[in-house]
Amino acid sequence: MKKGQARKGLIVAIDGPAGSGKSTVTHLLSLKLGYTHIDTGALYRAIALRAIELGIPLADGAALGELAASSKLEFRERDQVLLDGRNVSALIRAPEVSMAASRISAHPEVRLALLGLQRRLGEKGGVVLEGRDIGTVVFPRAHVKFFLTASVESRARRRVIELEEKGTYLDFEEVKKQVVERDRGDTERKVAPLRRADDAIEIDTTGMTVEEVVARLEAEVVRRGKDFASASTT
Ligand code: C5P
Repeated sequence: MKKGQARKGLIVAIDGPAGSGKSTVTHLLSLKLGYTHIDTGALYRAIALRAIELGIPLADGAALGELAASSKLEFRERDQVLLDGRNVSALIRAPEVSMAASRISAHPEVRLALLGLQRRLGEKGGVVLEGRDIGTVVFPRAHVKFFLTASVESRARRRVIELEEKGTYLDFEEVKKQVVERDRGDTERKVAPLRRADDAIEIDTTGMTVEEVVARLEAEVVRRGKDFASASTT
């Protein structure tokens, strides 16, 4: 292994609240490392979208768990998500799907149904997984764990820009309200709540550029990667 190069086959977990910049930095980090990027939020979003389409009540954990267990979810390249063979990548980014994803993700049945898939996608290593409970539940023995945070204002600002890039124009205060609401739901749920794993490196990205965050993460992966003789997973 060359000096300064990340070793192959590691599992890197990146958790954090909505709008902490996870998606962008995870994508760039995965490119730098030559790893696969796995956006676990997209799985919850795809199930939420299908639930809305089928009219399944978002409070019905049993029905939603069945839906998650019987749906075929696949990733193609960066953010291409296939649900039962249908490309739903754009549809799952709608604000109402964000809110619905947050609601359905509170059901233990849904989390359990998606757990095996997330582990299968990541177990071979060479992956950067982003989500809310990767370092605590999905891969508690991930080789390197990060917890990204940022102020509510800066996260809401990022979301507004992200949505605008996709052609959706929402008021800043409205987006901020949604960010706060999703945070509350994600941190207060009983199963796998959003929290920093004890051994995760916390980085407050407020005021940092994307490049600065990625450089910091890459340096940590390279440094920490040297401590692992072999890759172990869950
Ligand atoms: O990361 P993203 O905002 O796309 O996630 C959408 C929703 O899916 C989150 O608000 C959260 O409720 C849920 N989620 C989760 N566990 C994960 C990833 C996402 O509960 N590992």
